[in-house]
Amino acid sequence: MKPKKTFHILDETIAHRPDLAPDAGGGSDEENPYWAWDEEAPHPNPELGCVRRGLCCKSSPGWFAPGEVEKAAELLAMAPDEFVRKFLIIDATEVDGQIVHTFAPVKLGRDGKPALPPASRADALYRTLRGQCVFYDVDKRGCGIYEARPMECRQYICTNAPGDNPTHEQIARLWVPPGSPSVS
Ligand code: SF4
Repeated sequence: MKPKKTFHILDETIAHRPDLAPDAGGGSDEENPYWAWDEEAPHPNPELGCVRRGLCCKSSPGWFAPGEVEKAAELLAMAPDEFVRKFLIIDATEVDGQIVHTFAPVKLGRDGKPALPPASRADALYRTLRGQCVFYDVDKRGCGIYEARPMECRQYICTNAPGDNPTHEQIARLWVPPGSPSVS
């Protein structure tokens, strides 16, 4: 028996191509290991902002700003390095031509296991595919580290105009000490 797929594709234009939907005969879970066809619950009222549908938490965990990893570790009564080794992925983006590394909760596959080993570096495939945040509680539809959730999770609201949400570059820029070169 073939293993069940473990990820969703991030790009909505690909993920919702009707010609690829299983019921359109364009593919199936078994034929395409990266295919998934989930109905997203419509937002009841965009003026309400976040209504905890969990779409963000089930696709792309938010990035931490400096100092927040320590707070989240403290919330779980863990040492920061233990917290990183158990729950976080090291991601990176380009800032002014330099690669800056950041931290985010690891994504889980459909098997409930980390999509990459925690404390390893995200790669292009990992960034592209959807996966539920290790801290997201599906039953409670909530965040397991809500009081110390990452900056991106606190500030990102899916009904915002795109320009009103923080970008990864903006968060990565916070990790660059003033006046010092970026870490590559
Ligand atoms: S840390 Fe919390 S708010 Fe952020 S993606 Fe994970 S579950 Fe959602």
